[in-house]
Amino acid sequence: MNAAVPPLMILVTALISGCATNKITGRSQAMIVSDESAARQSAQAYTQLIGESAQKRALDDDAYQLGRVQSITKPLIQQAIKVRPDVQNWPWEVHLLKSSEVNAWCMAGGKMAVYTGLLQKIQPTDDELAAIMGHEISHALLSHQAEKLSRAQMQRAGLTAGVLAGALFGVNLGSIASIADSVATVGLQLPNSREAESEADNVGIELAARAGFNPEAAVTLWEKMIRLGGGGAPEWLSTHPNPETRIAAMKVKSRQLMPIYEAVNQGKPIPDMNTLRGQPTAAETPPAPAPNAPIPVAPPV
Ligand SMILES: [Zn+2]
Repeated sequence: MNAAVPPLMILVTALISGCATNKITGRSQAMIVSDESAARQSAQAYTQLIGESAQKRALDDDAYQLGRVQSITKPLIQQAIKVRPDVQNWPWEVHLLKSSEVNAWCMAGGKMAVYTGLLQKIQPTDDELAAIMGHEISHALLSHQAEKLSRAQMQRAGLTAGVLAGALFGVNLGSIASIADSVATVGLQLPNSREAESEADNVGIELAARAGFNPEAAVTLWEKMIRLGGGGAPEWLSTHPNPETRIAAMKVKSRQLMPIYEAVNQGKPIPDMNTLRGQPTAAETPPAPAPNAPIPVAPPV
């Protein structure tokens, strides 16, 4: 069989069916890996990670912090379901992982983790932790993991013939051995585009405000992240570029959302503010990648 056929087939598939309109933001996304597929594979990766963490006694070893994380994510999930009703069926789950890394994430399908390093080094308030998890949940709501997997697959298909054979999602991750690790690495550690980060910022801060958390915490959170970054950029910050620009955007957005936050906490009806839709401004749009640009791969966790 001609080795060039599989990548060609993927490119053709991408051209025929690869574009989808995001139901939340209205943005056109290149999607050849479905949300369902990303969620299914993520669940497998999550089960393996949780099992390994338990064996290493690195799972949920702080009952107070675990309870705190669970009580903060619960109302965020309730708001996420209002934004995208089909995620009610996701097997939502959150665990605390013992690690010095400053990190938190939400996989496609709603599997989440908060690293103890984030809690220790950032010392987030409840509102700031809600800003983090609102942002991470929004990446999942907005199908960013499936989008990254799709982009990786298309890039690889366009670059090299034959490398797809036998490689999950068409991505050769070298030292990454297991399927589960590959999914976790590609889905979580490939950087999101600036456009996707901007989307997750906007949707995340609104989820938090509607769940009763102060949206201004997104600003103080980023200020803490920058201060910490001076002593060696933490993982979460290094995959989320341009913090100063984002702080300025969060200040504007948090002011817009204060009426919602105040209404929630006063038990009043929540103002109907459809602030989720809309394309990023030209200044926020990243330049198109060079045709032969390699797929950036961050070191595995
Ligand atoms: Zn992000």
